[in-house]
Amino acid sequence: MKVLKFGGTSVGSALRMIEVAKLITDGEQKIVVLSAMSGTTNTLVEISDYLYKKNPDGANEIINRLESKYKQHVDELYSTEEYKQKTREFLKAQFDYIRSYTKDIFTLFEEKVILAQGEIISTNMVTNYLLEQGVNTILLPALEFMRTDKNAEPDPIYIKEKLDAQLELHKGADIYITQGFICRNAYGEIDNLQRGGSDYTASLIGAAVNASEIQIWTDIDGMHDNDPRIVEKTSPVRHLHFEEAAELAYFGAKILHPTCIQPAKYANIPVRLLNTMEPKAPGTLISNETEKGKIKAVAAKDNITAIKIKSSRMLLAHGFLRKVFEIFESYQTSIDMICTSEVGVSVSIDNTKHLNEILDDLKKYGTVTVDKNMCIICVVGDLEWENVGFEAKTLEAMKDVPVRMISYGGSNYNISFLIKESDKKKALQNLSDHLFNCK
Ligand code: ASP
Ligand code: MG
Repeated sequence: MKVLKFGGTSVGSALRMIEVAKLITDGEQKIVVLSAMSGTTNTLVEISDYLYKKNPDGANEIINRLESKYKQHVDELYSTEEYKQKTREFLKAQFDYIRSYTKDIFTLFEEKVILAQGEIISTNMVTNYLLEQGVNTILLPALEFMRTDKNAEPDPIYIKEKLDAQLELHKGADIYITQGFICRNAYGEIDNLQRGGSDYTASLIGAAVNASEIQIWTDIDGMHDNDPRIVEKTSPVRHLHFEEAAELAYFGAKILHPTCIQPAKYANIPVRLLNTMEPKAPGTLISNETEKGKIKAVAAKDNITAIKIKSSRMLLAHGFLRKVFEIFESYQTSIDMICTSEVGVSVSIDNTKHLNEILDDLKKYGTVTVDKNMCIICVVGDLEWENVGFEAKTLEAMKDVPVRMISYGGSNYNISFLIKESDKKKALQNLSDHLFNCK
């Protein structure tokens, strides 16, 4: 069985919901995970903000506005009076429920309940639409099976057991619809898998049912539209290893977050990224298979700062790197690239909020140099160390570009360069020529 996930924009209007319904009714049994309609979760966060600030009038105004938007969706989505009426009643109950939270104390617990309503509403609307169309559809309530443990991590054993039981209870449906994002915590309270968590839901469900494939449908296709961060290539990226996808994730949030696909990766279930606006396109398949001898993509990220700490005390000393890293840790600043020599270390960061404090502290350990306005260029593909050729090719491509740092060997899938932002265009063009156009 396949698991398909549609994001907020893919179900962002009545029209889009109808498109999704068309896409999923192909006669194959499947589980469909839906986000809230786009903008809804943000609006629910806004409502919660008013309630935290003890401003029920502010909250009610936004609730009423959101409700009237949904009433309009109902008019557009359903063709029969029966389903219009049924969904109106459902929405009325939901919004009254949300309104009931404007009358009492408001804490994190209440906020989680409010946030859960977006997915509960969208899944009910789509389920009702499919039922109206005569499709054999069952709505599986995520709150019955999706659960986190005491460490706020998903609990795969519980999820599998409860989901299996739900599927057994409703055997024989063609389409199972369920909510992304929402879950219960170890204490049975309503909770969620963090913003954007619907992908995580799909991955967890895919692993639980041992799906043949997990499909992530969005309408913003990060991998093959004209994303300026990724070089134009002769052919779009059709296949990535999970780790290649993880390397690329740093360069653009449009690609799946690596933690979200971990359950799929461990269960060895391929994840396919598809574009709702171009449903016939094959998309990008992410799996545990490496395409041997292939470079997949070159990505770039600007606004990088390089810091070098040079110290003769580093020679043959142990614990030097720990001291350096602790400084970054104490300012919650993550390091992206690292290069070391016997007497010095260079690191790159993209968050410069605490740069001055960090530099001040680093000066205790050596001479510190900073280069701003730098750019990471990352070549992703089969760069297993025993292969020969690609390292030389990438270096050849960079021969006219001043390179501040080179990082290779951190994974089997990438080689990264740190260069000046002003050299980015040239570097990307040179790499593209050398790696993809077979010059
Ligand atoms: N609706 C949630 C959010 O906007 C979850 C999701 O869309 O993945 O964060
Ligand atoms: Mg979303």
